[in-house]
Amino acid sequence: MKKILVMLIMLVAMPAFSAVDWSSKSNYKLVNDVGKRLLTKNDIPAKINFRVKRTKQVNAHADQNDDIYVYAGLLEYVDNEDELAAVIAHEIAHVVNRHIAKSMLIQTAASALIYVATNGESGGSVTPAGDLAMLKLSRTYEYESDATAVDLLVNAGYNPLAMISFLQSLSSGGKSIDVFSTHPANNKRTMQAYDYICYKYPEKMTGYSSDSYEEFLEYATPIVEARNANPEKLAKFNKKQEKRAKKRAEKMVKYKQKSLLQKAADKKRNKTGAKK
Ligand SMILES: [Zn+2]
Repeated sequence: MKKILVMLIMLVAMPAFSAVDWSSKSNYKLVNDVGKRLLTKNDIPAKINFRVKRTKQVNAHADQNDDIYVYAGLLEYVDNEDELAAVIAHEIAHVVNRHIAKSMLIQTAASALIYVATNGESGGSVTPAGDLAMLKLSRTYEYESDATAVDLLVNAGYNPLAMISFLQSLSSGGKSIDVFSTHPANNKRTMQAYDYICYKYPEKMTGYSSDSYEEFLEYATPIVEARNANPEKLAKFNKKQEKRAKKRAEKMVKYKQKSLLQKAADKKRNKTGAKK
């Protein structure tokens, strides 16, 4: 009884995810569950598989079959279900925006939440696969995916600020740098995602708390305040975000249509196959 009580207290006292042992394969089901929830709640009819890759590498990617892989090394940075959802939503967003097909890269630097996280203790570093030729495209792709991921998260009932928190914790955890020297600074990328949330989901701007999110706010708040104090700047900002939101919505509609056609074609093929 005492043991049970202690366990109960531990469960209450600990944030849900810090107790998750990602070295245990049984917990990988969570990745699939969150992935499927994101698809269902967003009415995405596509068949996407969610898998965990057992490697220390800090990465995630979608492949040409639209399968999504989250690396065990990246899961170590994930603090709660909303953050896990943010990682998976970002990868679904690459699929929705057809980035993989466009780039023809199976394991692309563009697909990762691009950061190099250096392990301070061992001095070793983990580097997502990179391709310099993809540099310019990948930057655009990351911004697009982050914005689409925000939409996916909100529709599935997750807090989009978890993405901001996760990006910040990756970039401030140990000595971290962007993979590419000309890639925008971490804060700049996180700011792009944050701006999108500010514009499209102002009602979601509260209700998330974490050290890394607070840390990011120290950077972002003066920028937001300066913008709000300048009508010209604010008008420009709103126009830019409106354009982003419209483009993302169009891409989503297009992808859903394509997925439905694909589904119908698969069904027809299966039927024909069964008759033979
Ligand atoms: Zn990406």
